Amino acid sequence: MNIILLQDADFVSAERVQLTGRRLEHVCKVHRAVVGDELRVGKVNGLMGRGTILSLTDQQLELDIFLDQPPPAPSPITLLLALPRPKMLKRVLQSVSSLGVKQIYLLNSYRVDKSFWGSPLLEEEKLQEQLLLGLEQARDTIVPQVTLCPRFKPFVEDELPGITAGSVAYVAHPGVEMVCPHALDQKITLAIGPEGGFIPYEIEKLQGCGFIPVSLGERILRVETAVPVLLSRLHL
Ligand code: SAM
Repeated sequence: MNIILLQDADFVSAERVQLTGRRLEHVCKVHRAVVGDELRVGKVNGLMGRGTILSLTDQQLELDIFLDQPPPAPSPITLLLALPRPKMLKRVLQSVSSLGVKQIYLLNSYRVDKSFWGSPLLEEEKLQEQLLLGLEQARDTIVPQVTLCPRFKPFVEDELPGITAGSVAYVAHPGVEMVCPHALDQKITLAIGPEGGFIPYEIEKLQGCGFIPVSLGERILRVETAVPVLLSRLHL
């Protein structure tokens, strides 16, 4: 936790918050903080700054808050991710959130196991939990938006053109000739396939929407490895 994220409900006045639970535990056990210490804080979807500890007990932490800094610039990459298995999704959401992606579309694909769509992890509150862990890691406050797209064809035909407008679009697909570009300075839409990869029909549909298939070389990476590699490679 490299920043303590504050929710509206934490504020008891404009400049004072009271925290319990996981954040209190972290401040006690990891920071080993005492009254008077300053901690890095940020308001969810707002500014970042410092919190001075006014009181600290086993039950509650009270901070005096001063917020004056903007969060870091967002990634220019919009991510389209074939829905991974829940365990992997957790890790991917955290890393994507920590890498600054703000638009995430979780997409169905022929090789996505149907049972994944029934996972409790897809409930809004659970998704938010994972995204906040990523923000806490990276010192960011802006929560990424996650959109569930359980029907591939209607999504690609009706919604994707609006999403890719003004961006260059790539689909990561092992075995194609074109090597994934790097250090681009523009808006990007990136599609990443499921563990079994996109099927040819899906690649054709994405190409019909302007996506260019690109490869990272002959090594086939797990989704959770491919995601951070592609995100850091594509963006300047
Ligand atoms: N057997 C599958 C195939 O050949 O497509 C492997 C899929 S891989 C485990 C899962 C996803 O990660 C792929 O659909 C792709 O989006 C991305 N990926 C993994 N390794 C890649 C590579 N070397 N080049 C491009 N994309 C890769």
